[in-house]
Amino acid sequence: MKSASPGSWSRYGPNTLRGKALALWRVCADIVWPPLCPVTGAPVSAPGELSPGAWSDVRFLDAPWCASCGMPFDYPIGKGAVCGACAAQDTPPCRISRAAFVYDEKSRRLVLMLKHAGRTDGLDVFGRWMMRAGGDALEGADALIPIPLHASRLRKRRFNQSFLLARALSLHCGLPVEPHLLARSRSTPSQGGLSAKARQRNVAGAFSVRAAMKPFVRGRRFVLVDDVHTTGATLQACARVLKRAGAEDVTAITLARVVKPVDPLK
Ligand SMILES: [Zn+2]
Repeated sequence: MKSASPGSWSRYGPNTLRGKALALWRVCADIVWPPLCPVTGAPVSAPGELSPGAWSDVRFLDAPWCASCGMPFDYPIGKGAVCGACAAQDTPPCRISRAAFVYDEKSRRLVLMLKHAGRTDGLDVFGRWMMRAGGDALEGADALIPIPLHASRLRKRRFNQSFLLARALSLHCGLPVEPHLLARSRSTPSQGGLSAKARQRNVAGAFSVRAAMKPFVRGRRFVLVDDVHTTGATLQACARVLKRAGAEDVTAITLARVVKPVDPLK
């Protein structure tokens, strides 16, 4: 695995006794527990990699897309074009949102394995994909901010998948991860099955900038990181409190995005 190997080699060196023992252990581990594709379950050469059959199941996102929310268009409309939903509202606090792939029946397994099964072997690959999709959302940014979990959910899950994704992206883009600027001050029910309006109400007032951290927010440019962009309600709620605290700019990158058919000319 790429993320584990370099650290191990740099500490022990490939020619030291310990380095050779680690290499032997890795070979044996791959024989006993061969790395499997997280989508199809087929054997792959390294943990987190996709098998050839899985590539057709993951729909990667790329331009042409809405210049603001990243909703893909079926055909190019022109630089800076936004979708109908973005055109109908005032300038959103989260200026740009980008995602690596479409969240659907086939790809959701990739997200759920990280979020609910705690499988971290795909993180290096996810970081690369998010870096590729990030593009203009990363330009000029100062730091990455993972969407925080409420303390009660963090205790239950034991990790924040958004923090893991932010850290994986950080290894590729070089931006620092700042997980302590934002707090989830109210525990919110699951957003699953809620309409866009209900999601907005659900997260209203749920996030805040920690009082002691406000000096670190003013005048800076942030990229929010989350696992799935559904309606954007959570991203906009976080961006709103950051902008109110004086952030100069807020954008977002997620691993996956729910996509509904959109005609950009309507
Ligand atoms: Zn849009």
